[in-house]
Amino acid sequence: MESAEIRRRWLRFFEERGHNVVPSASLIADDPTLLLVPAGMVPFKPYFLGEVKPPAPRVTSVQKCVRTPDIEEVGKTTRHGTFFQMCGNFSFGDYFKEGAIKYAWELLTSSVADGGYGLDPERLWITVYKEDDEAEQIWRDVIGVPAERIQRLGMGPNFWSMGVPGPCGPCSEINYDRGPEFGEEGGPAVNDERYVEIWNLVFMQYERGAGEGKDDFPILGDLPSKNIDTGLGLERLAMILQGVQNMYETDTLRVVMDKATELTGVRYGADHGSDVSLRVVADHIRTSVMLIGDGVTPGNEGRGYVLRRIMRRAIRNMRLMGATQPVVAELADVVITTMGQQYPELLTERGRIETVAVAEEAAFLKALKGGTNILDTAVTETKAAGGKVLSGDKAFLLHDTWGFPIDLTLEMAAEQGLSVDEDGFRSLMKKQRDMAKADARAKKTGHADVSAYREVADSSGTTEFTGYTRTEGEST
Ligand code: ATP
Ligand code: MG
Ligand code: MG
Ligand code: MG
Repeated sequence: MESAEIRRRWLRFFEERGHNVVPSASLIADDPTLLLVPAGMVPFKPYFLGEVKPPAPRVTSVQKCVRTPDIEEVGKTTRHGTFFQMCGNFSFGDYFKEGAIKYAWELLTSSVADGGYGLDPERLWITVYKEDDEAEQIWRDVIGVPAERIQRLGMGPNFWSMGVPGPCGPCSEINYDRGPEFGEEGGPAVNDERYVEIWNLVFMQYERGAGEGKDDFPILGDLPSKNIDTGLGLERLAMILQGVQNMYETDTLRVVMDKATELTGVRYGADHGSDVSLRVVADHIRTSVMLIGDGVTPGNEGRGYVLRRIMRRAIRNMRLMGATQPVVAELADVVITTMGQQYPELLTERGRIETVAVAEEAAFLKALKGGTNILDTAVTETKAAGGKVLSGDKAFLLHDTWGFPIDLTLEMAAEQGLSVDEDGFRSLMKKQRDMAKADARAKKTGHADVSAYREVADSSGTTEFTGYTRTEGEST
């Protein structure tokens, strides 16, 4: 089943069951705590928080998502992309646990002829929160899932909150057994590659108080109105329904890998290292196109820096596979054509997206040349002196003069057997920021003092890449 059909069926199923179909919101979150949208519930947060009255008691969407913290997994696990689409159904004080569980089961297991996805019920494994007897009982007694295929998990994976006082509640996840070729048996509690998580159902039923982050806080009581928030990964379901080994081999991403093969001569399946590179390229180019499509432009701060790092990583992986010429225009073109079927604005914006992407590639290729010379010399000197760690000074120089994201320096140094003094790098970055601030104060001439803003923007752009989606744990 094609990705487009998975999406159509999702929306049709929930529309027929009284849900308002809401188009995907932009990846640029309308939310000051987030740079980018990491989950389908984000556009509906004001309804869940009771700040705004929902337009309807039940809605459904297929939301564009970006999760930068998953970048290290890309190409290595079979199921993580930096961009993916989350299919969701939401209830604001309307149906609750039993309703959500019944819908999920019906859609997944009813036959393709009947509008469902036709999954074999015997391959589905369920996890519930360890204290959620009610959810377990529904799965076992109402749906009929055998007790041995229901597992109880703790707070980390199976309890949801926003990390701050407000709504929270247990989750229940639906996982698909891909069979023994994906490793040992024992259910999702022991093997998350074989039993791949496809759908997370969040039962928002309690109010939490202040406490330590995700898992140490008091439950103050029941919410006056209970909500449902669910998220199914479209690419993960596509991987299962298309019978392929990982999400990069599904219809919308495979074509990008094929284009990368055409441009480099590197065949998919020939070697583990280059397979990872092909997947990284497919994922990152797609994410870049989707971000530019929503108005992000490459830069040194905030979202622009997310985009820059992702694009530069894709380009570098193309060069590792032997590309010597610019490649971005052709790769982006494939993404625009494929994703444009679901997101027609990509087609109308094709010219602008390609111009932005190609300009960033040109800037990077120039920087890569100069920066690589500096890096190679520094590596040679470090090794000659018997060292194993590239200094923070050099990493800072590469960042400041050549626009080398720190993860690029880390990766390139590691290829030559060196680590990098990241703490040294960070303290130089901080020093530079502090000086800029002092400078701004000294020069203050009645203009607004933007130093506080800059501090936020700079630190999000220069410290850990994983710091962006503050509510990553919050997930769906
Ligand atoms: P995992 O444990 O596999 O990392 P998750 O628990 O972080 O997934 P949720 O936050 O529950 O994921 O998101 C809901 C659904 O979105 C998941 O069940 C999965 O199908 C999908 N999903 C989450 N992260 C990704 C990703 N990086 N790439 C593709 N699909 C994803
Ligand atoms: Mg995750
Ligand atoms: Mg999970
Ligand atoms: Mg989950």
